[in-house]
Amino acid sequence: MITALAGGVGAARFLTGLIEFVDQEDLVVVVNTGDDVEFFGLHVSPDVDIVTYTLAGLVNDETGWGVRGDTFECLGMLKRFGEVDWFNLGDRDFATSILRTKLLRAGFSLSQISAKVSHDLGLRVKILPMTDDRFSTFVQTPFGVVSFEEYLVKWAAQDVVLGVNFVGMDAARPAVGVVESILASERVILCPSNPIVSIGSILSVAGIRESLRRSGARKVAVSPIVAGAPVKGPADKLLRGLGVEVSAFGVAQLYADFLDVYIIDSMDAAEKGRIEQLGVKVVVVDTLMKNLAVKTALAKAALEA
Ligand code: GDP
Repeated sequence: MITALAGGVGAARFLTGLIEFVDQEDLVVVVNTGDDVEFFGLHVSPDVDIVTYTLAGLVNDETGWGVRGDTFECLGMLKRFGEVDWFNLGDRDFATSILRTKLLRAGFSLSQISAKVSHDLGLRVKILPMTDDRFSTFVQTPFGVVSFEEYLVKWAAQDVVLGVNFVGMDAARPAVGVVESILASERVILCPSNPIVSIGSILSVAGIRESLRRSGARKVAVSPIVAGAPVKGPADKLLRGLGVEVSAFGVAQLYADFLDVYIIDSMDAAEKGRIEQLGVKVVVVDTLMKNLAVKTALAKAALEA
């Protein structure tokens, strides 16, 4: 069994390469829920949906989120009522969130709902939210404190980050199956995802980091930082805000207590020696997932490292 820890788009792209080699039934994907937001009373789980749509072959490849060919009639009608909002949700995406909200109100957990949605979309991969409990990531900027999704979408991640808060962290328990699959896997892969608000939030849920330290699995991470910058998204602002060096090395430091192998991009080959001094083996390959060939080669490296 393989367990992957995942955020949204970067992780989902990597996982499309991974399922070329791993049988879906042997793969558990533990997904960040710190970005979950409430939108018109609906519970939206951006990262869980991105991973699910991508693996089900439904994702809008241009944006990396949402359903390919989706329409935005519902949002358009809301705008006619003067309800201009900052969040974008297509009609089919609305359906997923309507179902999730209905089932949450009927007492089902996020992980039960995720299992139903992925099954109904034809998947056999187990997609597990990191926790079934409330967990919300907030970002502190010079202009105030906002939810991470608001920082990313509404404010286009323009502002300097002064700090990050995981609200609910102290009470959140890992969803059933998360720790069990980390302990039972032969390999745990940290996808190329935001190290603070995607992987960092997963690792902050009580017991998850500890299970990675205890697990006999080979623990492999793919660096989301290439040539001193994120490929996409605000990882640089978040790392800087928390005083972490914006480099493959900086991210390696965050995982060094449990990591066995770290995959870095060819452009960062010069960082190899410094990272190996952290006690982590380094593999150097091309990690920019421009096409399926790179994705599969990267997945193969993560499976063989
Ligand atoms: P989201 O897509 O923004 O929700 O976030 P993720 O948590 O999946 O993380 C995106 C992270 O993945 C960013 O820090 C990117 O730098 C990284 N990333 C995206 N695409 C690639 C890629 O092709 N190669 C590598 N190495 N990292 C990537």
